[in-house]
Amino acid sequence: MSISLDQSEQNSDSRNHMFWMRKALQMAEEALAANEVPVGCVFVRDNTIIAKARNRTNQLRNGTRHAELEAIDDILSNPSLTPPSPSSTTQHQYPLASTTLYVTVEPCIMCASALRQLGIEHVFYGCENERFGGCKGVLSVNSDLPHPIHPPYKATGGYYREEAIMFLRRFYMTENTNAPVPKSKANRVLKTEIAPRPPSP
Ligand SMILES: [Zn+2]
Repeated sequence: MSISLDQSEQNSDSRNHMFWMRKALQMAEEALAANEVPVGCVFVRDNTIIAKARNRTNQLRNGTRHAELEAIDDILSNPSLTPPSPSSTTQHQYPLASTTLYVTVEPCIMCASALRQLGIEHVFYGCENERFGGCKGVLSVNSDLPHPIHPPYKATGGYYREEAIMFLRRFYMTENTNAPVPKSKANRVLKTEIAPRPPSP
């Protein structure tokens, strides 16, 4: 597999990040096998996966069932993973504090916003999400948009980017069997060349 990392990430942590991203890719592969848009993720805290999930939007016929929100539901429903606030017995304001997300595709605006409200520390993603991305692709919900309460978080792309893109392409080669007028797939060809990442602003 090949990688395309930001210069700042070419350090000793990279191997760790790639290890966790391979776990996320496994979830994306599971999504592809289930005929879902192939996006997978793992949430890591204290060097341990606390939740992993994949896209389930087709299965549940619910467009909000993205991999990230599926995993967040698991985390929030497990009291041992959501420490109480230090000053009270209520839930911690930021249940994803000290938690890192590895996701194969840049989180969409919906998920990027949820991650900020829950206090995620850092997001690593594979490929950019040019149509819906909330960590720079369309809007920088994670950091550039000011918010009166919720702190920004870092988002770093490029981990197994080409693999993430190829999963998506394989899916879209065979999709739309549920469309009212399915498009002909006879002439579709799986493209394998991948354009470089768009430059950072
Ligand atoms: Zn999303």
